[in-house]
Amino acid sequence: MLQWLNRLERTLFPPRCALNAGPASRFDLADALVAQLRPVLDTPHCPRCATNTPDGHLCAACLNTPPAFDQVLAAWWLDDTLKTLLHRMKYGRRPDFRLTRLLSELMAEQLPRWQPRAQALLPVPLHHNRLRERGFNPSDWLARDLGRRLDLPVLRGERLRDTPHQAQLSGRARRRSLNGAFTAPAAVAEFDTLAIVDDVLTTGHTAHALAQAVRTVHPDAEVEVWVLARTPVL
Ligand SMILES: [Zn+2]
Repeated sequence: MLQWLNRLERTLFPPRCALNAGPASRFDLADALVAQLRPVLDTPHCPRCATNTPDGHLCAACLNTPPAFDQVLAAWWLDDTLKTLLHRMKYGRRPDFRLTRLLSELMAEQLPRWQPRAQALLPVPLHHNRLRERGFNPSDWLARDLGRRLDLPVLRGERLRDTPHQAQLSGRARRRSLNGAFTAPAAVAEFDTLAIVDDVLTTGHTAHALAQAVRTVHPDAEVEVWVLARTPVL
């Protein structure tokens, strides 16, 4: 049924590059741009937070202050193409289903390589002020599309505090500002393994705070973090 729906969608809306960068045959993105995307799994990275490390060992941050999540499953390294697509998704006036489909297809293309175990998805919630301002939650749209594609339920948490933007705070201050910022729904207790879903992972503080909220409800849960893109450390 789901595959049939996906095929129908493809027939009704055949591939067309969202950035008008040339012919597209598999995704709504030019084949030339797809070929330039770099999968995180093809580069040495920290097994926990997926940051790029020279030797593929646990990074210093995960060694010193282990995050509350178990593993980040990141599809691609964040590059200019993904930045442009994500910016368009986030700041569009309304949800663009073709763009959401493109981003979730790009995620779904790489996720099986990580052998994900999650039985339910938990998108990073937006504070209601931000939700009102923006009109929709991009992470929620991404999780919904992925959930449909992979046949997984989507749960919803709550963001209790509207935290200052990452760019305005130092790393430690940001991590502190996110303490207790989220609550997880009671339904997380029904699943052994959950995946927090977000578009990009940079510092990992947001995912850490939401994973803490999951553990408050379900201390033994295994928490994966699924993201479309991981910001590389240069
Ligand atoms: Zn790490």
